[in-house]
Amino acid sequence: MKSSSKARVLLIYTGGTIGMMQDPVSGELKPFAFTQLYQQIPELQHLPVELEALTTQQAIDSSNMDPRHWIELVELLETHYEHYEGFVVLHGSDTMSYTASALSFMLVNLSKPVVLTGSQLPIGVIRTDGKENVLTAIEIAAARKPDGTARVPEVCVYFEYKLYRGNRCFKYNSEQFEAFKSPHYPYLAEAGVHITYNDAFIRCSSNPPQKLQTLKTLSSAIHIMSLFPGMREEYVYPIRHTTLKALILLTYGAGNGPTENWFVSYLKQQIKEGLLVFNVTQCKAGTVVLGMYQTSMQFKNLGVVGAGDMTLEAALTKLMVLLGQSNDTQWIKHQFETNLRGERSPLQ
Ligand code: ASP
Repeated sequence: MKSSSKARVLLIYTGGTIGMMQDPVSGELKPFAFTQLYQQIPELQHLPVELEALTTQQAIDSSNMDPRHWIELVELLETHYEHYEGFVVLHGSDTMSYTASALSFMLVNLSKPVVLTGSQLPIGVIRTDGKENVLTAIEIAAARKPDGTARVPEVCVYFEYKLYRGNRCFKYNSEQFEAFKSPHYPYLAEAGVHITYNDAFIRCSSNPPQKLQTLKTLSSAIHIMSLFPGMREEYVYPIRHTTLKALILLTYGAGNGPTENWFVSYLKQQIKEGLLVFNVTQCKAGTVVLGMYQTSMQFKNLGVVGAGDMTLEAALTKLMVLLGQSNDTQWIKHQFETNLRGERSPLQ
């Protein structure tokens, strides 16, 4: 590693639209080799940072992301952690907020930026949003305070001039360049002529920084059940498997759901058999408050745990990491209700 006052940034390419090209025959967008991305953005070589790049084993459409890829990313970050001031992960936007949330829980004592970014249009397309996203994400990953510590020591998502906390945002638009939203937490930074950092909302790393630790055992013995008017008993009952550990109910409004006997008995039986049940609202903003309506009292009485204002992505990946660490159900429930990485507001 050369010694220099320039920040060292590692760019990790995982795939996504940013690095895709149109197949001339089928017209489908398919990932291409990373070296071509470098050719497409010659500016990368002129940034005031020491930039190095590597790719994950396979460039993929992020619809194929799964916990094995998150573990691969965490291992890469761990291996290269001491040598770089910041990291940029190029990733498809479809599941970017899942990966960002997962990384936020898997990386403990993070004191450096891990900025995920991508694009809605491939990098080779003239109107691509990818160039700006990548160049600014690198600048953010390299940004340091006067004392030399990282400006944004968190896992975050940079998209279309905004920097979001990774475990607070979600993709809400499949067409517009402004594809992400974070209804419960302000932007960490906004890029215009200058990059304006919202310092009051950026997590502080401990000073001196603690050693990075990683949690690489995840469990996906989880099922998500979205409630809808007209749900039928005969289709719900088969959703029980002896190895299933947790069920996330995607509920209405402030955490409400049907009070019909068959549904309540179903939950009661599963909980009695050891299934952990969690409640995340289908609403894109607002919080789960169990017991606010009569239609959430049944959940409260059965010991269903509310997700507060966590996104589905944060709730799901947090559970994967918690279930991977312990079988102690009381501990899992308590941790789920605790704000671990800035992913939820205090319990109301
Ligand atoms: N399907 C793409 C992906 O998530 C979409 C994108 O990159 O924006 O990999």
